[in-house]
Amino acid sequence: MTGKVYLVGSGPGDPELLTVKATHLLEEADVVLHDKLPGPEILGLIPEEKREDVGKRAGGEWTPQEYTNKRLVELAEEGKTVVRLKGGDPFVFGRGGEEAEHLAANGIEFEYVPGITSAIAGAGVAGIPVTHRDHASSVSFVTGHEDPTKEESAVNWEALAATGGTIVVFMGVGKLPEYTKALREAGMDPETPVALVERATWPDMQVATGTLDTIVDVRDAEGIEPPAITVIGDVAGTREEVLEFLQ
Ligand code: SAH
Repeated sequence: MTGKVYLVGSGPGDPELLTVKATHLLEEADVVLHDKLPGPEILGLIPEEKREDVGKRAGGEWTPQEYTNKRLVELAEEGKTVVRLKGGDPFVFGRGGEEAEHLAANGIEFEYVPGITSAIAGAGVAGIPVTHRDHASSVSFVTGHEDPTKEESAVNWEALAATGGTIVVFMGVGKLPEYTKALREAGMDPETPVALVERATWPDMQVATGTLDTIVDVRDAEGIEPPAITVIGDVAGTREEVLEFLQ
């Protein structure tokens, strides 16, 4: 009998933010395919013999997506209950869509198990609501991985600047100088508040704040590194008002 694959979101990293369903599935699974993003605490809950790391390999090389796709099918065909564990939510910059398509194309039954995305939780634990009646009526999730100066860039920074809403950038530590510049050039106020939240809900979480103008220097001074989200918009400025009482 063919097994089943569960595309499971782990949430941002605090094990208490795993869903009840994710917790049960981690117990029931024969194999858990994961990378580093679920974080040390959640990965620590999974017995070593069940774990298969399909993230960065020794030497800094990424496991090719084709390998992960193939492995998921292979394990299911062996009759295994497979959890593909992903940081945050599997369908938010998690390649869950690609894996779902591959499984469907190979006739493998799968289930999507939502997780709390770092875009919302990462901002929130830093004291930043991604929407707020007085400050932002929309929120956009975008990748910061692409070079905004590239002609064929899939992210339209100009259009984003025009929304007036909150922008949450994933994978955006390295290209921070490029896209903050693109947003300023698109007419966004250089004083717009910006927050960087690194390892949200992990024991060593770090938050750094500045403006569209200063955030690159802040990043360098505070040593912010991936994984981190960038929260851009007036909501990032409300943090100061709640910080004293934020646990
Ligand atoms: N599926 C994930 C996103 C995967 S893309 C989600 O829904 O959250 C990888 C990017 O996610 C990282 O580069 C970083 O921008 C963000 N990220 C994931 N977990 C994070 C965390 N705990 N703290 C801050 N950023 C995080």
